[in-house]
Amino acid sequence: MLPDDIQQAAMRLLHHRTARLADGDPVAEPLIPTTTFRLGDQPAPDAIYSRYANPTLDGAEARLAEVEGAPVVLSTSGMAAIAGVMLACLKAGDRVVVPADGYFHTRVLAGDILAPLGIEAVEVPTRDLAAADLSGVSLVVVETPSNPGLEIVDLPALAARCRAAGARLCVDNTFCTGLLQRPLALGADVVVSADTKAAGGHSDLLLGHSATADAALEARLRDVRKFTGAVPGAFEAWLLSRSLETLELRLERMCASAAAVADRLAGAGVAVSYPGRADHLQHALAARQMAAPGFVVGATFADKAAAERFLDASGILRATSFGGTHTSADRRARWGDAVPEGFLRLSVGIEPAGPLAAAVERGLAAL
Ligand SMILES: *Cc1c(COP(=O)(O)O)cnc(C)c1O
Repeated sequence: MLPDDIQQAAMRLLHHRTARLADGDPVAEPLIPTTTFRLGDQPAPDAIYSRYANPTLDGAEARLAEVEGAPVVLSTSGMAAIAGVMLACLKAGDRVVVPADGYFHTRVLAGDILAPLGIEAVEVPTRDLAAADLSGVSLVVVETPSNPGLEIVDLPALAARCRAAGARLCVDNTFCTGLLQRPLALGADVVVSADTKAAGGHSDLLLGHSATADAALEARLRDVRKFTGAVPGAFEAWLLSRSLETLELRLERMCASAAAVADRLAGAGVAVSYPGRADHLQHALAARQMAAPGFVVGATFADKAAAERFLDASGILRATSFGGTHTSADRRARWGDAVPEGFLRLSVGIEPAGPLAAAVERGLAAL
């Protein structure tokens, strides 16, 4: 069971709307796909044009804010949220640190899109961050756990080093969502998350968000979104609000099943990386920092053929991305990640425990 404060956050998330209803109001979030609003003499800033604000977007942002503990700016994808933070925090001549072993497109964004604009991108492996020289750095972007290596960054320690160096710390919290890890409370200046993954959770929408308690940065993030046009449609925001109501329920099943799958694979001799296992190198740090060890398991089979046999026999869905209702697996070497050919990133879904365990057994029997 998730800790009490996380349950309280999940409770606020679930009842965000019902707690504010007047008699006769609809219980479900209204979907309002309007672009424009009737204008009076002094229009409210949130009722002019939907690239500035839209009530369905506001609803989804308010729900996410219950989880993040700070105002939220919703964007069209996780990458749009990361780009928004970089554009809001950086200018020509600045230096940004990105993880050398994290989400691939974050590196491409920094190296191929921002570098030609005069922003220096420095790639640092996640495990070297604790000792990295941060002098002259304006923004440090980290992922914890990292994707796909599942390495953990000590966030309070890194936040202190960033503060001392005058750098802002941005944490990509996609793996955990704000229910499993609260980077702002651990010292980060801003958090980004791909809601495309577990927050959306049904493999049917691309969305992302940033959150910060720094009001000036929040205003800048809203301006960047407004003027770059990375504004989600009302339907996507509505789908997200609907999905968020079951986030805690899904995560609880997914994390419990991931722990069971990790243990079973390890018991069968597969090299497993899962922060919830005592043999994970940073198990104690993960336990301090995360409310639960997550639903992603790294599993290294003997070689590519063994990983493929496991997938064929188990029937586990081959798909990239993670955090959906279906258990799925991605052989990351095919995308050029620095992992062995037999490495699978397993995203454990919400299947009933029995049939999921049976699928894993079928896969192991084929090894
Ligand atoms: C998927 C992912 C992203 C990008 O999200 P999109 O919605 O695909 O743009 C960013 N960071 C991490 C850690 C991710 O897993």
